[in-house]
Amino acid sequence: MEKYDFIVIGAGCAGASGAMYASRLNLKTLMIGELPGGLITTTHLVENWPGIKAISGPDLGFNLVDHALAFGVDFKNERALSIEHAPISAEDKAAGKKSAYIVKSASGEYWGKTVLFATGSHHRHLNCPGEKEFENKGVSYCALCDGAFYRDKIVCIVGSGDSAAKEALLLSEHAAKVHVFSRTTLHPEPINLQRVKANAKIECHDKSEIAAILGDTKVTKVKLKDGREFNIDGVFIAIGLLPHSDLAESLGVELNEKKEIKINRNSETSLPGIFGAGDVCDTAFKQAITGSAEAVTASYWAYEYLLNQQVAI
Ligand SMILES: Cc1cc2nc3c(=O)[nH]c(=O)nc-3n(C[C@H](O)[C@H](O)[C@H](O)COP(=O)(O)OP(=O)(O)OC[C@H]3O[C@@H](n4cnc5c(N)ncnc54)[C@H](O)[C@@H]3O)c2cc1C
Repeated sequence: MEKYDFIVIGAGCAGASGAMYASRLNLKTLMIGELPGGLITTTHLVENWPGIKAISGPDLGFNLVDHALAFGVDFKNERALSIEHAPISAEDKAAGKKSAYIVKSASGEYWGKTVLFATGSHHRHLNCPGEKEFENKGVSYCALCDGAFYRDKIVCIVGSGDSAAKEALLLSEHAAKVHVFSRTTLHPEPINLQRVKANAKIECHDKSEIAAILGDTKVTKVKLKDGREFNIDGVFIAIGLLPHSDLAESLGVELNEKKEIKINRNSETSLPGIFGAGDVCDTAFKQAITGSAEAVTASYWAYEYLLNQQVAI
């Protein structure tokens, strides 16, 4: 069993930024994360990280992890399996001490005086016939990972937001044709809308919902709810994200109706010493920089918490 001042669960933009700051504040810090760099590593181009006009998603994500490690963060590249309140004696409780938290993973058991949940999110599924059946046989959630398999083919993106537009732009570098099917209308950031409109390979279809993904051994077409059918080789789905908040929920952290972790302006959750940052939280804008900023805020308030609060560990 190892003891830490600050345990970060998640190694994406938020987790790595919070871990780096905490370590620079001389907090003994552990970062446990399954995917180093997190979700941003699945996009080809990031143009809104302040100070860097353009950087690939993998470069940004891996740089953030490297930066944390350079300042002495311990890193376990694995999944945190559970978290619970550490036992506290009646004397410690009577003396006003707070309990610590125990995070368990395959490699061991780690005690933290404070914990930051920066566990991000996973892709929402369409839940239509064919989606599951053809996953990795023409259905994908990541254009950067799989786009190159569709050189000169016909693909579609399902979604309406900025991620959908960015995925369509990336796919247009490989595919012959990119259909964008949006339940409402495509409404990304204005600059990406301009780029989509100017791209002759991309065709947008508003108010178009997928009813089924069809094929034999792999995807061959999609059928829309209005009955239209399109010959398609690859279906890319970008219809939003669902928070990875199950661990936080199991600990008793308060979530909102979307299962996002509720945080305040100090990135504090409903439990003492437990912080949240990034896409897993109930903040309106899910961006790399906003997640990183929330995690940095968390690291400062964890530092303050440990200055003012004794923790039984
Ligand atoms: C296609 C696409 C394009 C995007 N483009 C941009 C852009 O241009 N600019 C921008 O600012 N943002 C962009 N975003 C959004 C950005 O990627 C996210 O806002 C950001 O990555 C969130 O960071 P995070 O650290 O909160 O979560 P994530 O990056 O999702 O990281 C979560 C981390 O937690 C880990 N994890 C989860 N559960 C556990 C567990 N139980 N144990 C251990 N580890 C766990 C994961 O493995 C991962 O390391 C884009 C997103 C997508 C999908």
